[in-house]
Amino acid sequence: MSILIRGAEVLTLAPGAGARPVTADVLIEGDRITRIGAVEGEADTVIDGRGKLVMPGLMNSHMHSPEALYKGRYDNMPLEVWMLYAYPILGAQTLDPRLVYLRTALCAIESLKTGSTCVTDDVYESPNQTPEQLDAVFQAYEDVGLRATISGHVVDRPFLDTIPYAREMVPAALQAEADALGAADGAAWLAHCRDAFARHHGRAGRLNFMVAPSAPQRCTPALMEEAMALAEAHDAPFHTHILETKVQAVTGRAFYGETLIAYMKRLGLLRPRTTIAHSIWVTDEDIALMGEAGCCIVHNVISNQKLGAGVAPVKRMLRAGVNVALGSDGVSTSDTTRMFAVMHAAGLIHNVQTPDDDLWLTAEEVLRCATLGGARSACLGAETGSLEVGKKADMIVLDLATVAFTPLNDVANHLVYCETGASITHAIVNGEIMAEGGRCLRVDEAALLAELREAMPAFLAAHEKTEALNRRFDAHFRAIHRRCNGEDVGVTRLGNEPAWRT
Ligand SMILES: [Zn+2]
Repeated sequence: MSILIRGAEVLTLAPGAGARPVTADVLIEGDRITRIGAVEGEADTVIDGRGKLVMPGLMNSHMHSPEALYKGRYDNMPLEVWMLYAYPILGAQTLDPRLVYLRTALCAIESLKTGSTCVTDDVYESPNQTPEQLDAVFQAYEDVGLRATISGHVVDRPFLDTIPYAREMVPAALQAEADALGAADGAAWLAHCRDAFARHHGRAGRLNFMVAPSAPQRCTPALMEEAMALAEAHDAPFHTHILETKVQAVTGRAFYGETLIAYMKRLGLLRPRTTIAHSIWVTDEDIALMGEAGCCIVHNVISNQKLGAGVAPVKRMLRAGVNVALGSDGVSTSDTTRMFAVMHAAGLIHNVQTPDDDLWLTAEEVLRCATLGGARSACLGAETGSLEVGKKADMIVLDLATVAFTPLNDVANHLVYCETGASITHAIVNGEIMAEGGRCLRVDEAALLAELREAMPAFLAAHEKTEALNRRFDAHFRAIHRRCNGEDVGVTRLGNEPAWRT
């Protein structure tokens, strides 16, 4: 099968290419781009590209589809409090694989329709992910038509041992209830990952598995080291969370006597395939270590605002040599997977963090983080993330006659500051048109959404009981949040640096 997009404005976002589009034809044969330039002849499908922009599909490099069931449910909670409800300690339900499928399909449909062609979905199931649940996630992405990298997220320490001061500030009776649940069995999780790599890695030419030990304070060093060995063996990402909140900055010092980044470095776990979600409360030394390692971070700028977590010093990390990607984070802490919203926020927030305009992100930088930066974080930098001959054909087509692009001054600025995703006419993934004219072509969206709505009352009836059980921790976790935020952690800014350049 071949697709020819004729006479479009093409923004390749290839390394070294500028951020201005060039007029060209784009030829797709099979799953790859085979020509960008003048193309003679016809193709199986021809898209009239005149008045349209073709660009790489956006990469959502950190997302948690399980939270889709809590979209719009919570507000004004710091991370450690919000987690009590979205990732409950007590009384978590084991979900039916069909509900797992529906919530994943919901995320995949929204992602595809709003310009993401590739997502990294870090999937945590309580109490443990079953093979059937993981199958359901893969099936949803295969059916809707996205490229995706999907985990196995794990925590193998008792939950209260992952939060500083919990042993001191949570009443003993509540601690006993939490401790009775124990922690995940690391060996069983590693066996689950080996099985997942064997069954799913490379599926449909666009789906991969990755390891995702939750965080260095939530996992044992032995588990993280074995997870890294598995990631290396399968050329897959090692995906984790570090320094999202100030509580976590206190954690490093309290648990290990060093920052969590220094701890990762000491364990040999800072590598190019390491992706760190958030990376907000990093010290200058942390940034230098991350740059030397050439690791990746994901800037989850909307989620970080909603949870009051802070703002990652992205420009400084880019300069240090860190690869930066963008993510929506979970659908409960950003309430949407729409990457145009994430880009918009990423383009703006640094400007209010510092008067030093040298540390603000340009629209072009934002676009590069949202495309090739994301592909590198998924270990797919050679395959996708830019429009180049030989790469996988993952791209979106946008109508330049819409309000967002009229009048058109600078395409990069319009993409970051004006567009919402509403101008998208086609989404092409792996050489196939997966969405067109605002519709996903391979699934019955209305039927899937209706089925999910129907399943929600029973789910929520049980979830409300779970919320009540975990609400008993709420005041204690808020107190821990306040206590940690009063401490000095060697990071001189509140979220970003005020230092004026010299
Ligand atoms: Zn996350």
